[in-house]
Amino acid sequence: ADVARRADELVRLVPDYPLPGVLFRDITPLLADADAFAGVVGTLAAGTTGPVDLVAGMEARGFLLAAPVAAALGSGVVPVRKAGKLPAPTASQSYALEYGEATIEIHPATVPAGARVLVVDDVLATGGTAAATVELLRGCGAEVVGLAFLVEIAGLGGRDLLPGLAIDTVLTVD
Ligand code: 5GP
Repeated sequence: ADVARRADELVRLVPDYPLPGVLFRDITPLLADADAFAGVVGTLAAGTTGPVDLVAGMEARGFLLAAPVAAALGSGVVPVRKAGKLPAPTASQSYALEYGEATIEIHPATVPAGARVLVVDDVLATGGTAAATVELLRGCGAEVVGLAFLVEIAGLGGRDLLPGLAIDTVLTVD
């Protein structure tokens, strides 16, 4: 509760970014606060039950949370990248954006079949990015044991795209 309250104070609201009408939640003030950052990482790491082999984090802000969560859990980390960034053979998944489409990729050779994977990102908005990440991981034969977000924008219904999955959030906003 204390971690959530501090996160709420430190996540900055930026109107009309990146597009007019969008209220962007800027997590950089929180990342820069040592106590708040440690609290968030601890909360994200504490949400899962059972062993976690890998933590998958989405480019780019997801990396900043997934890596310390993985270190806290004693897990490896898997970067989920925008198309064209990874050097070795990739698995890719496209998903719809409000305008257009996005594609994300992983190195499937780093995700063994049966691996228990926790997905970590900064914000759950429409859920498209997270759902595509789950698809990618399942395509490798991995088991997604849960998802953990710093902020869930509940009004956008992201959970609806993640049926049956355990979802943890530090802070839920409308
Ligand atoms: P979704 O696919 O759920 O619509 O959007 C989630 C992705 O977009 C996440 O990877 C997240 O980093 C980014 N995102 C969407 N809205 C925001 C926002 O208000 N603040 C931040 N920091 N990231 C956002």
